[in-house]
Amino acid sequence: MILRRCKYIITQDYSRRILKDKDILIQDGIIVEIGENIRGDDEVIDCSDKIVMPGLINAHTHSAMVLMRGFYDDAELDEWLRKIWSLERKLTPRIIRLAAKAAIYEMLANGITGFLDMYFYPEEVAQVAKELGIRVKLGYTIMDKVSTTSLDRRLKEVEEFILKYRNDPLVKPVINIHSIYTCTKNGIIEGYNLARKYNVDIHIHVSETRREVYECKKEYNVFPVEYLNMLGVLSENMILVHLGWITSWEIELISRCNCKVVHCPTSNMKLATGGILPLLVMLDKGITVGLGTDSAASNNSLDMFIEMKNTILLQRHSFWSVDVKAQHALDLATINGARILGIKSGRIMKGYLADIIALNANELNLNPLREDNLISAIVYSATGLNVEFTIVNGRLVYSREFRDRIVRELQTVYRELNEFILKHSLS
Ligand SMILES: [Zn+2]
Repeated sequence: MILRRCKYIITQDYSRRILKDKDILIQDGIIVEIGENIRGDDEVIDCSDKIVMPGLINAHTHSAMVLMRGFYDDAELDEWLRKIWSLERKLTPRIIRLAAKAAIYEMLANGITGFLDMYFYPEEVAQVAKELGIRVKLGYTIMDKVSTTSLDRRLKEVEEFILKYRNDPLVKPVINIHSIYTCTKNGIIEGYNLARKYNVDIHIHVSETRREVYECKKEYNVFPVEYLNMLGVLSENMILVHLGWITSWEIELISRCNCKVVHCPTSNMKLATGGILPLLVMLDKGITVGLGTDSAASNNSLDMFIEMKNTILLQRHSFWSVDVKAQHALDLATINGARILGIKSGRIMKGYLADIIALNANELNLNPLREDNLISAIVYSATGLNVEFTIVNGRLVYSREFRDRIVRELQTVYRELNEFILKHSLS
């Protein structure tokens, strides 16, 4: 495939260059050349009015929760979780499959090329992801304090999932440990042992609310990240999500152990969790921080453009400082997101995976557009609706021309999801 005469290429390379009027040659899912007038018989896409950039990575979500978008919007986390959990007890593999399909189509349309997922029936989500051509890192979730599934059985499921997908080109296994308040000590340690055995990551919610921190302090006399350290599980395999309520010494631990972090500003603000992730402190310590939408039940968008903007707004509002810039947010959503997924993407450079998106440079909300305000347009003005096409692994998986077909295809899906919500939220 050749992306011909790209008006702008946001390379996200080491010097963050922006290229003009260049071609990109993609072969076997890899970017093999960037230059002028590249020759070849490959499929050509005219990009003369396009902004071409690396695909965005949604580094924390619960994709199938698109089912509950707008279901119980105006409650704080604890009440919200109780309401959501009562509905989740009724979930079936079929509902997960349908909801994942809706979420993945939406993410592809919004320029998301990969996501880190935590939810029930990951087999279903993995299959839909492969079908629709998006990258995903996911697995079974340990929550042995509240689950009806025994820890032994869950660990077996976790392990089988790892063995099944560890060599898949699109699906990467992860060990989801829901949180310290839904897991026993043993559950966390056994999950960690499996992660070490197979060299896969652990994905866990930590320090999302004051209550969680308070309960941890009361029970164990330490803060949540200290608690994980005390259990001996803090390591470079750990992906810690939220960290809204975190101390300076916990940040030291995270930095020393090389853990990765995911920030979900929109979800945190909407659920009124009140905390604030000290982004610049973490970046200055060299911690890899990515961005996530969290679920469509708590966001309610699956739009990483909005997430980038909200990241900056929340930092500026909290710290009265403009030190976090548009380029930081773009790095979080591309380069750092790719590190968290453990893939060589997030940059448009020779040898990188061809996970690429394009926006229409003529759109009203992006103009007047110039090279010098391009990053600003992407971070502060763009939304997923500006995305023209999405390429994952060298394959065109979404294009504006497909949109009507996708919308039609999803009508029956939405109908079934609505029937499920109406039936079970009233009973
Ligand atoms: Zn979450």
